[in-house]
Amino acid sequence: MTEKTMGKAQSTISNPRSTVSVVIPVFNEEENLEELIDRCLKTCTRMGRTFEIILVDDGSSDESRNMIRRAAEKNLGEIVGVLLNRNYGQHSAVMAGLAEARGEIVITLDADLQNPPEEIENLVRKADEGFDVVGSVRMHRRDTLFRRISSRLINRVVRMSTGVDMHDYGCMLRAYNRRVVDAMLQCHERSTFIPVLANSFAGRTAEIHVKHAERSAGDSKYGLWKLINLQFDLLTSMTTFPLRLLNLLGVIISGLGFGFGIFLFIMRLVYGPDWAAAGVFTLFAILFIFIGAQFLGMGLLGEYIGRIYSDVRARPRYFVESVVGKSGVEERPQGQVSLFPKQKA
Ligand code: UDP
Ligand code: MG
Repeated sequence: MTEKTMGKAQSTISNPRSTVSVVIPVFNEEENLEELIDRCLKTCTRMGRTFEIILVDDGSSDESRNMIRRAAEKNLGEIVGVLLNRNYGQHSAVMAGLAEARGEIVITLDADLQNPPEEIENLVRKADEGFDVVGSVRMHRRDTLFRRISSRLINRVVRMSTGVDMHDYGCMLRAYNRRVVDAMLQCHERSTFIPVLANSFAGRTAEIHVKHAERSAGDSKYGLWKLINLQFDLLTSMTTFPLRLLNLLGVIISGLGFGFGIFLFIMRLVYGPDWAAAGVFTLFAILFIFIGAQFLGMGLLGEYIGRIYSDVRARPRYFVESVVGKSGVEERPQGQVSLFPKQKA
């Protein structure tokens, strides 16, 4: 039996004994790994279900790699190490972990202990109620003010454009059910933002409040540049709205230019040629109309590019949960219709 069919056969929703996979991306976290593994193992064992902890090493240059290797050898059947050959970024690392995960409920978690592993239990409990995605909202968030403000802004934009009412997209402590994970694995785009991707396939979502601690050791792996890049990944992975904005801008600028022209024309009739500064303003009005037209043109290109983009990503259009009933139409025998019927000898 292949891995895929195994996942399918196991998948039953709302099963209080469903199996759990915990996926953790690790990038130079040698100071945190020991405690992380210890606390995760304790929490998972306490739940009394079949579980696996998947540690994905995202090309660490410190001891993390070897520590993962050792932990996997020591805890056979409980810890799986996935070692990437170089650093691909947090979300790619999580994807690699998801591809390996076999549980019916999959939890993602950061390695820096900012999200306490003990919360896994609460997430699993919530996911068992039949939710596709269970998010988490960080209580008393321990991050810099800059991070908190930008994150609040981004969360609001995401909420507006995905239409899913979730509050904290930055928090990776989440639970996904098997169906959503399978859907995500069929998305082959290079830049992804997993919580948003998941929500685009989620039917029922829920949120729980979780504790948030300061990074237990080491520095954040996101510098300003990586952070900006991440935000663009987030934006482009969920919407082509900015491209649309060009169109709107074009219409507005053109409209204003046009209105300005009419205004000039009327004033000219009323107050005579001196008023219009010998045609300088008229030039402006015409200029505005052309600038607006340029934006419109770009917006049009944007519409095409947006469509090309979504085709290139080739995300699955939908997922059928189940088909009920039986068709009365007989299935057509395969291989009878041919474009080039064989010639009789
Ligand atoms: N991470 C990763 N690859 C990277 C950057 C980060 O696998 O290129 C992991 C990191 O080890 C941690 C998680 O992603 O487990 C979140 O990173 P971090 O805590 O630095 O992000 P922050 O909490 O500052 O947003
Ligand atoms: Mg962190």
